[in-house]
Amino acid sequence: MPIRDTALLQLAQKRRLYYKICRNCGARNPPTAVKCRKCHSYNLRWKRRELKR
Ligand SMILES: [Zn+2]
Repeated sequence: MPIRDTALLQLAQKRRLYYKICRNCGARNPPTAVKCRKCHSYNLRWKRRELKR
C-alpha cells in the first residue's frame, strides 16, 4: 500500500509546477507574488504546466 495517495500527489505536483517566473531575471516566484522578489520587476509570467504532459 503506497504511502502517498493520489490527492496528495496531485497537490505536490501542482505546488511544484504552479509558480511565476520573472521575464526579467528568470527567478521563480510564489503564485501569490505580484512582483519579482529578486529584481522587483512586475514583468512576471505564469509557469503553469498541465499535469498530463
Ligand atoms: Zn526578476
